[in-house]
Amino acid sequence: MKYQCCDYLLHEIVFDIFEVKPCCEASMNKESIKLIEKFNGIEFNIEEYLNKRQELLNSFKQGKIPSACKNCPLIEDKEWDEKEIYINRIIVANTPKCSCNCIYCVYTYNNPSNKEYFNKLKPYDIKPILLSLRNQNLIKNNFMLIVGGGECTEFSKGELEWLIYFTSIMKGKIQLLSSGIKYSESISKILKAGEAELIISPDSGTKKTYEKVKKVKAYNNVWNNIAKYIKAVNPMKSSVKIKYIIIPQINDSITEVKSFIKKCKQVHCNDIHIDIEHFWFKDNKDKPIPRRIKELVKLFKKEKAIKISYSAETEYWFKNEEELK
Ligand code: SF4
Ligand code: SF4
Repeated sequence: MKYQCCDYLLHEIVFDIFEVKPCCEASMNKESIKLIEKFNGIEFNIEEYLNKRQELLNSFKQGKIPSACKNCPLIEDKEWDEKEIYINRIIVANTPKCSCNCIYCVYTYNNPSNKEYFNKLKPYDIKPILLSLRNQNLIKNNFMLIVGGGECTEFSKGELEWLIYFTSIMKGKIQLLSSGIKYSESISKILKAGEAELIISPDSGTKKTYEKVKKVKAYNNVWNNIAKYIKAVNPMKSSVKIKYIIIPQINDSITEVKSFIKKCKQVHCNDIHIDIEHFWFKDNKDKPIPRRIKELVKLFKKEKAIKISYSAETEYWFKNEEELK
């Protein structure tokens, strides 16, 4: 049956601090869609999750797009294969603790004083939840486990290692998002021996801009750690992506991006990911793309020896433009 829906609702699950969601695409819309609200992580009821998923799916089938999904650019109009219920992307984002302090961080954007609260918040235990999904045969082989923010190198002892172990015994791939401030031997090991992608986002090519964006003094440390991780990579199976989140008026100068590209080359990075700051994007996504952002994308694209990838926001904005082609 052909209808408007998205792959995320069918096959992704996001474990956030207080809720379970089908996607992380909050920057596309003002409100976010939920599968389980007020989630405390103590009891994950698979039946409740599957029922809510089905309820949302039925709305899509009837052409009643939930308000949180209205105008989402990730909606596609096509035949959806629903025969098998399975998850192929799991996002673990239940631990907000992080010693970085990015100006765009979702935890502190509206209220910087939240930092202490989130740093002290005790996360729920994700392990029994993942095991119960596995026991119900809901996780597909080759799934991707994405370990999102806070900061995975600051998880309590053994937590990150357990997620790496779980992914490898399930024959999945792991994607780790890190500030890069703290070096992790476990991350280096999985980059060497497993299937992993590490994403670090310095968002700058100079110390001055790094400190403006991150509000911590760790510029040299981060680039040194990036260099160590890149040295550890087995390029047949793993990669390190260095991310540049374009933040208008903060890091969108040509000279900053040129310095960033230079730093990337110094550490032998061949994988850059471009994103646009999500709060700014939300307010501006229906306006024409600013000339400066087009210029920056062109600058990145000139680097033929470096693989350039784009966030969903960037792709959405540039979908009819030549710059991304
Ligand atoms: S339509 Fe968009 S917002 Fe709604 S579930 Fe899919 S990806 Fe998420
Ligand atoms: S690294 Fe992530 S979790 Fe940490 S402050 Fe930055 S955006 Fe927030």
